[in-house]
Amino acid sequence: MKTLRLILGDQLNKKHSWFKEKSDEVYYCLFEMRQETDYVKHHIQKVIGFFAAMRQFAEDLKAEGHTVFYIKINSEENKQKLTDNLSKLIEDHNIQHFEYIYPDEYRLDHQLSSYCKGLGITSKAVSAEHFYTNRDDLTNFFKGKKQYLMENFYRDMRRKHDILMIADQPEGGKWNYDKSNRNKWKGDVNIPTYKWFKNEVSEVVEDIQNAEIKTIGRFETKTFSYPITRVQALEQLKYFCKALLIHFGDFQDAMHTDEDYLFHSRLSFAMNLKLISPKDVVTTVMNYYRKHDDEIHISQIEGFIRQVIGWREYMRGMYWAFMPDYKTKNELDNHNKLPEFFWTGNTKMNCLKHAINNSLDNGYAHHIQRLMITGNYALLTQTHPDEVDDWYLGIYIDAIEWVQLTNTRGMSQFADGGKIATKPYVSSGSYINKMSNYCSDCHYNKSKKTGDDACPFNSLYWNFLDEKREQLGNNYRMGMMYSLLDKMDKQQLQSIKEKAQHIIAHQDDY
Ligand code: FAD
Ligand code: SF4
Repeated sequence: MKTLRLILGDQLNKKHSWFKEKSDEVYYCLFEMRQETDYVKHHIQKVIGFFAAMRQFAEDLKAEGHTVFYIKINSEENKQKLTDNLSKLIEDHNIQHFEYIYPDEYRLDHQLSSYCKGLGITSKAVSAEHFYTNRDDLTNFFKGKKQYLMENFYRDMRRKHDILMIADQPEGGKWNYDKSNRNKWKGDVNIPTYKWFKNEVSEVVEDIQNAEIKTIGRFETKTFSYPITRVQALEQLKYFCKALLIHFGDFQDAMHTDEDYLFHSRLSFAMNLKLISPKDVVTTVMNYYRKHDDEIHISQIEGFIRQVIGWREYMRGMYWAFMPDYKTKNELDNHNKLPEFFWTGNTKMNCLKHAINNSLDNGYAHHIQRLMITGNYALLTQTHPDEVDDWYLGIYIDAIEWVQLTNTRGMSQFADGGKIATKPYVSSGSYINKMSNYCSDCHYNKSKKTGDDACPFNSLYWNFLDEKREQLGNNYRMGMMYSLLDKMDKQQLQSIKEKAQHIIAHQDDY
């Protein structure tokens, strides 16, 4: 039976069972489309990376003897819409059966399932064969429970998949070494040179320019540095094990003006495109750890494993548990706009300058920069979660809605009212100073709350607590902060609030 199989841009899984057998009756298709380049303004490197990886994937499939229809962005036959491209191929090639891999994004899932309902031929959706968990495993796990604690889910994953376990107990005696993952990096521990690929992408860049796709961010290196094939992704993974794992946990939350990546793996792009699976990652990292556990402390590996089998799978499960409503949540009732400097990096606040310029230069910022610098600032300035989502979904090379939305709207903006985070991730300048060297070289004084040179995070923080008392005042994890606020001199609080409101009204002047 003549079968058409669709491969989306984030479904580049060479190990998928689809590819085990070759058949003259099976055609694969991949499309570069305006539908995907235009639903948000993406970082230029993100568009380059997706197209480069898709093109290479199609070439590799062809070289292995599969039949592939690849429609480039400027191709005359390109209808620029997924279902129109499919219909054209189905008609032109007398296709009798259509198959697709379940998309991870609600938008595409909905589009394809509706399309199939009206299709005159048979169709079937199959698993991506990528994640540890199925879409609704998390929903089932938390059924009947009041809270959706990641830690409970994570422990269950450890037990189920026998990772870092001795019988039914956590290896090392502790489930979580989070408290050992909070060192400041002071330049005293050497960071090896990063693994930097030099993927030649001039043709892709030219095509993007000719198509006049509107993008954000910068692309000054001219070669694409993240892995775009499975082979490269495995190389990146090996490099992480050899060079970075030894200090991953120690400096997981650290930030520094001279270092964009510190000991982070830079694997998210490859994983989210499914070039490698979380199982590839966990198996490789665990094997390396087993051979080197005399030099690598368990806190380093546990910190990493938690991100992959814990946070990543948990975020996906939460996405499927609560979409499509989740995308509209705004429980803190925030309505401001993001300042212009989020697109230029042009601010006197040194922490934001570094986190944003890293994002603009590399389509990357590590977790704490996303959470405690840009996310913290957006929440303290009471920005509408739609604005924040659009920025995060566009700017990061690894941003796909299933993982971006839950991290941004949920974890970072507390817009889901506390489903993912038990309290908002907000801080004054003192946390930023504790975890980075940003403040020592900043225009602002980290210790001041008011006055022209006061660190904006300080007044914004107390103003936020005061303004959101109705929603947060009863949160037991915020009790200490509210009792400090209650003890604050009324006159002082008034000056702090005036300062914060000035900042919110004139963000681009700071
Ligand atoms: P490492 O620090 O080396 O971590 C290893 C791997 O763990 C990552 O590659 C990633 O696959 C996984 N991981 C770690 N933390 C998380 C998490 N919170 N959620 C899911 N997976 C995680 N990650 C994305 O992949 N796409 C996004 O769009 C995205 N948006 C985010 C938005 C905000 C506001 C925040 C706070 C975090 C976001 N994250 C997102 C999670 C995290 O910041 C990135 O996964 C990480 O920075 C990627 O860099 P890395 O590969 O060097 O990660
Ligand atoms: Fe950021 Fe304030 Fe520190 Fe400046 S002083 S780097 S604005 S936290």
